[in-house]
Amino acid sequence: MSQDLKYAAGLLRDAKCILVFTGAGISTESGIPDFRGTDGVWTKFSAEDFMLDSYVAERSVRVRAWASRFPKMFGNAEPNDAHYAVTDLWKKGRLVGCVTQNIDGLHQAAGLPQEAIAELHGNADGIACFQCGAPHDPADIEQRWISGDVDPRCDYCGGILKSTIVFFGEMLPQQAVDLANNWAGDADAVIAVGSSLSVYPAAYVPLDVASRGAPFIIINNSPTDLDNAASIRLDGMAGTLLPQLVDAITG
Ligand code: NAD
Repeated sequence: MSQDLKYAAGLLRDAKCILVFTGAGISTESGIPDFRGTDGVWTKFSAEDFMLDSYVAERSVRVRAWASRFPKMFGNAEPNDAHYAVTDLWKKGRLVGCVTQNIDGLHQAAGLPQEAIAELHGNADGIACFQCGAPHDPADIEQRWISGDVDPRCDYCGGILKSTIVFFGEMLPQQAVDLANNWAGDADAVIAVGSSLSVYPAAYVPLDVASRGAPFIIINNSPTDLDNAASIRLDGMAGTLLPQLVDAITG
């Protein structure tokens, strides 16, 4: 075990309410590109397709967005060892909650229960009407899309349908924000994993915990915007370092 890892484990040894904050980097080892890398997500999708104004105003944007949503936005991606390590922390009773910026559903796929997850940027699984909010079954909408309905409309009010991912220009889901804030208030330590910690308001969550003097560990393979606020940044891969850290404090 490296000296840095030993130091981080020492800081977390007595922590009973650890908040884990995750970003796109926890899922790159599952084959999902992150936001800013050279093969980052915007090389595959157009950022415009995730801007609320253009999505609502332009049919062509919606048509493109649905074409990137179906058949499966993230292919057959499976959780990796870092996702399982978060679940392990929860099983051992040391996790107050996992606040994620990710929309890929891999924490749930790794066995972490929904009530332990706050998805600040929504989830790619759901579809709802932008006008009346009515949820729609993604399998039904996919079937309609396959049959040629390339800009599907709400069954109830005829409004624009939209994935439950939070688009640029859209409010964060209040329930997830409240959950994240409550956990941040209760946490006695925070581990941020695979995030550049540059997207706000999400990055206020680990900052809030750290501002009370609690240990703040970052696991990331490149510098982040909050390295200076952290107790330590463990430089390397999430799928290797997070399981080692969790083992060291719970084993
Ligand atoms: P980001 O792309 O800004 O930062 C990811 C960070 O993770 C980078 O600093 C990168 O160096 C690091 N990283 C990449 N792979 C790593 C690994 N295996 N181990 C350790 N570090 C690794 O991501 P962000 O901070 O989450 O912000 C991006 C925004 O884009 C978020 O709002 C998120 O909603 C969205 N997004 C989500 C997904 C997803 O759901 N998987 C994918 C792309 C983008």
